[in-house]
Amino acid sequence: MSNWSPEKSADLFGINNWGNGYFRINGSGNVSVTPMGANGPSVDLFELTQDLLDRGIRVPIMIRFPDIIKARVELLNNCFSKAFADHGYRGSYRGVYPIKVNQQRHLVQELVKYGKDYSMGLECGSKPELLVVLALMHTPDALIICNGFKDAEYIETAILSQKLGRNTIIVVDRKEELKMIIDVAKKFNSRPKIGFRAKLNTQGAGKWVDSSGARSKFGLTSVEIVDGIEVLKQEGMLDCLELLHYHIGSQVPSIQSIKSSLKEGARFFTEIYKMGAGLKYIDVGGGLGIDYDGSGNSDSSVNYSEQEYANDIVSVLQTLCDEKGIPHPSIVTESGRFLVAHHSVLVFNVMGVNDLHRNEPPSPASKSDPSIMQDLQYIFEKVNKDNINECFNDLFQAKQETLQLFTYGVLSLEQRAWCESMYFTIATKMMIMAKSVPDTDDIIANLSKELCDTYYSNFSLFQSLPDSWAVGQLFPVIPIHRHEQEPTREATLADLTCDSDGVIEKFIDTKSGEPKETLSLHQFNIGEQYYLGVFLTGAYQEILGDLHNLFGDTDAVHISLNGIGYTIDHYVPGDTVTEVLSYVQYGRSEMVDNVRQATEESIQKGTITKQEAKLLIKHYEEGLSGYTYLEELE
Ligand SMILES: *Cc1c(COP(=O)(O)O)cnc(C)c1O
Repeated sequence: MSNWSPEKSADLFGINNWGNGYFRINGSGNVSVTPMGANGPSVDLFELTQDLLDRGIRVPIMIRFPDIIKARVELLNNCFSKAFADHGYRGSYRGVYPIKVNQQRHLVQELVKYGKDYSMGLECGSKPELLVVLALMHTPDALIICNGFKDAEYIETAILSQKLGRNTIIVVDRKEELKMIIDVAKKFNSRPKIGFRAKLNTQGAGKWVDSSGARSKFGLTSVEIVDGIEVLKQEGMLDCLELLHYHIGSQVPSIQSIKSSLKEGARFFTEIYKMGAGLKYIDVGGGLGIDYDGSGNSDSSVNYSEQEYANDIVSVLQTLCDEKGIPHPSIVTESGRFLVAHHSVLVFNVMGVNDLHRNEPPSPASKSDPSIMQDLQYIFEKVNKDNINECFNDLFQAKQETLQLFTYGVLSLEQRAWCESMYFTIATKMMIMAKSVPDTDDIIANLSKELCDTYYSNFSLFQSLPDSWAVGQLFPVIPIHRHEQEPTREATLADLTCDSDGVIEKFIDTKSGEPKETLSLHQFNIGEQYYLGVFLTGAYQEILGDLHNLFGDTDAVHISLNGIGYTIDHYVPGDTVTEVLSYVQYGRSEMVDNVRQATEESIQKGTITKQEAKLLIKHYEEGLSGYTYLEELE
């Protein structure tokens, strides 16, 4: 065994950087989860996975850790308390969780529970989300912030909920909504709590910038805000305008963008306040980012800590309000990603590997073979440490030529196959050689890309990591065990869908922040299980996931740690094939009936036996009740 160690693995995969103290590699070489930090209780993720499999829960599996949610809620609230104390700020902090980030009922219930002591509220961006929020949260004083497109029904529901004692604030996202709010308020003789969403000029940065700027979808321009204030004044309702909101986008990578947008937003606040509105809250939206790659300097990362975020918001607001002699407002944040991203891990198994390395050359080319074959034979025999650069260029040229000659009809299929085998034999030989030759980084990089393995994996990218496909988001992917062994392979991952986009070909690099094209993995041995985990998947992925190729929701479990071991709080079974098919209007009984009729006809014709027909129907019915992912036979 090499002198590899779990520590080296931790370093290679950067887990101590992106793991945030929640994930680490333990002495047995497995990933362990420590929601309350290194000294708190821990669970071994590999052992947990095996325990779950023993109970009949299936991979791919989404494992959620509510203790991490609790830790995140406490962390964010404590950062603001500390910032208030350090600065002598006189407002309060009233966080809300935007449920669109992950609306799973158990998760929202956990957030409400852990947020209770902090009067943490919820944000809804649509009518259905408001209905969820009204059913799930009764925390006194907690805010309910209503954003998104609104019709009269949304507004009526929101205003009537105020009569239940809920602290519902309706945010005017488009100017048409103000009149609707005023009409509904008159109808029910109520004083609504109103917010204005300002369209800031300041742009965010990163992948999700489109939420800000003059052309953003939501928000009022300065002209619309001034007009709106006039309307409210005429209606005698200016005191109802309690909140000013803006949102510059998600996963803001730089603290500079956060500060400059806040400076603009805070100026809106102080001006509107001076115009006589009853402003109490400034709602700075979401955007608090997390460090997906642990680098601190990329779009998948952030260049600030949550404490700096809180400090900067508090100090900018304090300065601007003091300058204008305005009381310090309560601060609302709508952080979603920050609260929930860390809490879920997707675990799946590898089903097989496409390995392109070749140690044995094909039988030697002879004088009568096409010259391209003799060229390749020559490169194979002659390559050495001194001519490796030259041979590398020749090899790439030979590869192009092989494909052309085949297309032109010069090479037969067998000859092309010989050339490809020889190509991969030479590439394998050069790769080993290049490692002991200085200044061959380029060659090594190119060859590793050519030779990299494909690990076929039991999950759907479209269902479980949609942002990886849609916006090229990077997530940390690492094996959850075998870290005491050196990972000797370089690979990309292919999912179960037949879509060529269903692959992961970009991986985090904690050191540079630039994505890598391959992932270091262990040798896959047939007959042994090899499990990978995708981490930090709790935000947006579950609800954005789709049914491409009819792969449905995965099994999900909620795991709480209690110091001695763990408990399974909830098991949420994934979709069955029947459920997924019903979304596209297929009825189970009709399908079974059709196949049964076909078997009856074939029994009559004598092309299938009764026993075979019985077995076919059995497989068919079990298939319909089964998991949409690959399962081990019992
Ligand atoms: C999506 C959204 C959020 C959540 O943003 P995060 O970056 O996940 O914190 C907050 N507010 C509004 C208005 C949103 O649309």
